[in-house]
Amino acid sequence: MPGFEVFGNEERKEVQDVLDSGVLMRYGFDGQRNGHWKAKEFENNFASRMGVQHCQLVSSGTSALTVALAAAGIGAGDEVIMPTFTFVASFESILAIGAVPVLVDIDDTLTLSPKAVELAITPKTRCVMPVHMCGSMANLSVLKAICNTHNLILLEDACQAIGGSYAGKPLGSYGDLGCFSFDFVKTITCGEGGAVITNNMKYFTLADHYQDHGHDHLGSDRGAETHLNLGYNYRISELHAAVGIAQLRKLDTILEIQKRNYLLIREELSKMAEITFRRVPETGVENYSFVNFFLPNAILAEKAHKALGEKGVDACFYWFKNNWHYINGWEHFKNLKSLGSLSSEIRLQIKNYNKVDFSNSDAIMGRTISCLVKIGWSKKEVKNRAIKMREAIESVL
Ligand SMILES: *Cc1c(COP(=O)(O)O)cnc(C)c1O
Repeated sequence: MPGFEVFGNEERKEVQDVLDSGVLMRYGFDGQRNGHWKAKEFENNFASRMGVQHCQLVSSGTSALTVALAAAGIGAGDEVIMPTFTFVASFESILAIGAVPVLVDIDDTLTLSPKAVELAITPKTRCVMPVHMCGSMANLSVLKAICNTHNLILLEDACQAIGGSYAGKPLGSYGDLGCFSFDFVKTITCGEGGAVITNNMKYFTLADHYQDHGHDHLGSDRGAETHLNLGYNYRISELHAAVGIAQLRKLDTILEIQKRNYLLIREELSKMAEITFRRVPETGVENYSFVNFFLPNAILAEKAHKALGEKGVDACFYWFKNNWHYINGWEHFKNLKSLGSLSSEIRLQIKNYNKVDFSNSDAIMGRTISCLVKIGWSKKEVKNRAIKMREAIESVL
């Protein structure tokens, strides 16, 4: 996920426009900004690249999820279904609006198991949040059917899969709302930033208001705007948005190189009969940011991960242990360690996740290794790396 690898003069030029006018904020100061509306421009370009009507930029991927949930009217005591394998932002955003995270198993797509989702639905469920981890997606058509049956909101976390698609639609645009992160290690970056996309005018309007203290953004006098609802400050700055404009122009080139590098690695790993790959749902196209594969069992996976490190193959992850992308690493969440007291709805309704059985997830994560795909590698470097990977894994088989 290499946006930072291609930071260059194009990004500098966009930022310089903002520095020249000195208007670092996205709203107001019309006369001083030399016609530069970087956040607005990025939003228009991003909505068009994602094939949706609306985009709301915010300060991070975590705030994108928070704003999306709030815009969909989710609040205290509502249940949101999320996977056991994800980034901590999933439960952080749910808890932030007072809702209750309901964790369920993943399957061999490394994303939400639709069966597990169905079993977890209660009268309090309001939203299903698939997380398209490591470049590939959840089975969105099945999840959508479940959501339609139970009248639930489908919110895609596409932070790690920007540029991938499902059923011909860009990831993030299939559900009711989609969220992206532009933090520094994502496929394209603003330094810090995030986006909510949707075709739903009402969600968009509420997101627009909520991320800026409830301002309705009508008229041209910010001080005189009305505030129909409470909001918060999740705004992006013009400086960050400016970086994103240049990065977005590079997205398709990044995806092409990622795909080339991914395929070279996968071809080499495929020579080992013992290695299988993460399942990509039918009609899905990955964004190729990671090569994700399974060893025959957890013991071999841990050994293979160690061997990869010893061979000098960096950026390979064994999420199952010593990593905060899997529930195993979330002691603070499982024990509800917060600075102050959490709201009573959360305390009363949340399960004791020290005691919930996630052996189905364990059986998959225990065997999974994910290796990052960078785009700075030459073809020769990727081939050498792929051979090193195969040799390291073969040494433990
Ligand atoms: C990075 C990430 C986020 C959060 O993004 P930030 O911009 O770092 O807040 C959320 N979900 C997933 C899956 C991510 O990878």
